[in-house]
Amino acid sequence: MTAHIIDGKTIAADLRGKVTDAVHRLLRDRGLVPGIAVVLVGENPASEVYVRTKSKMVAAAGMHAIDRKLPATTSEAELLALVGELNADPAVNGILVQLPLPPQIDSHKIIAAIDPAKDVDGFHPLNVGRLASGLPALVPCTPLGCVMLAKTAHVSLAGLDAVVIGRSNIVGKPVAQLLLAENATVTVAHSKTRDLLGLCRRADLLIAAIGRPEMVRADWIKPGATVIDVGINRVAGQEGQQAGKSRIVGDVAYAEVAAVAGALTPVPGGVGPMTIACLLLNTLRAACAQNGLPAPSI
Ligand code: NDP
Repeated sequence: MTAHIIDGKTIAADLRGKVTDAVHRLLRDRGLVPGIAVVLVGENPASEVYVRTKSKMVAAAGMHAIDRKLPATTSEAELLALVGELNADPAVNGILVQLPLPPQIDSHKIIAAIDPAKDVDGFHPLNVGRLASGLPALVPCTPLGCVMLAKTAHVSLAGLDAVVIGRSNIVGKPVAQLLLAENATVTVAHSKTRDLLGLCRRADLLIAAIGRPEMVRADWIKPGATVIDVGINRVAGQEGQQAGKSRIVGDVAYAEVAAVAGALTPVPGGVGPMTIACLLLNTLRAACAQNGLPAPSI
């Protein structure tokens, strides 16, 4: 079997296009421009690149990007004050505080201070609880993207045996909740799981969110299964490449798994592009909800 490659880049571009159309309609019919504030504390180069890409995509979707860059020495009180200011600003519909934060700042406190209605990352305890309770919520972007990609390979996820490897608050747990909401039978595995291989071999849908380069091998995969690879791991380049060059690989051994799986996301070009597209979607949804408008049908 050769897997169908789920093209996250194209699917994300399509989603961004739909969000952009809805944003234009919002401006035309209501005079509203959704705004998102992205807060970056400190000098993490990876975060800076990510934040720049986000801001570019936000602007391309016709939304208003408010970038707030603070020094690494920012205190918790100063960041809380900024969050309070953004909560009160009606031009700001979404607030994203880029993680990780410097050690003097408790990220849980900051996330809890964000107005849940503006929590476009879906990390606020209220949104976490609403998702777990099956209530409408702003849900984390990467997990939302994973489920959207999985749905492109199946008429329905109902009844599928889904295995999620990873139980982080950012990916593993929320993706498991979203799959439950789709009526999949969900098992969440982690570093203490016994017989991970046996579990994975029974999965119709396998989501790998581990952070271990190419850990998931071909013999872990049920023939025909759908495999969503969330991992982003920087490893040394292959032999023959320029010294010092690195490349990005997922948590799944792509070439060998592609020979067994029914559908597979590549890294890069799979889940990654969906994360920002879902952030735009969440911001649009937040702007509609804050203005008493129905959720856009996307
Ligand atoms: P975390 O490190 O927070 O969580 C990793 C999870 O994997 C933990 O639950 C851990 O178990 C589990 N794990 C680690 N080693 C093993 C093992 N040997 N066997 C089974 N389980 C194991 O990572 P994140 O959830 O934040 O991210 C996961 C990956 O996804 C990373 O590569 C990250 O870069 C990527 N990512 C990609 C995004 C995107 O936009 N595409 C966005 C966010 C993350 P335990 O809890 O027991 O320690």
